[in-house]
Amino acid sequence: MPSLNIHRNDTVKVLTGADRGKTGRVLRAFPDKGTVLVEHVRIVKKTISSKTGQRTKGGIAEHESPINVSNVALVCPNCGPTRVGFKTEGEAKVRICKKCGQTLPTKK
Ligand SMILES: [Zn+2]
Repeated sequence: MPSLNIHRNDTVKVLTGADRGKTGRVLRAFPDKGTVLVEHVRIVKKTISSKTGQRTKGGIAEHESPINVSNVALVCPNCGPTRVGFKTEGEAKVRICKKCGQTLPTKK
């Protein structure tokens, strides 16, 4: 089972694409695809077409679409966007900031 360095509820910064520079919370992670869904990032507008014969108007629905984890950086509370390292604390493997060494807790 592949795992990602980035988990749900992490704060990440987008490095590439139209939303470059934006930061957001990870809504979902898809380890098998290597992608994450980031709040307010890569918004896709979908037009909902009205059905023929009905008076209801079609509308536009906006929702996020997943982006590749290599296009985002985890944001360290101390020093900002960073790379993730690992260390072992007792039995547990924890994520650390590669810049300042701060432990990056996984928020549930
Ligand atoms: Zn740091």
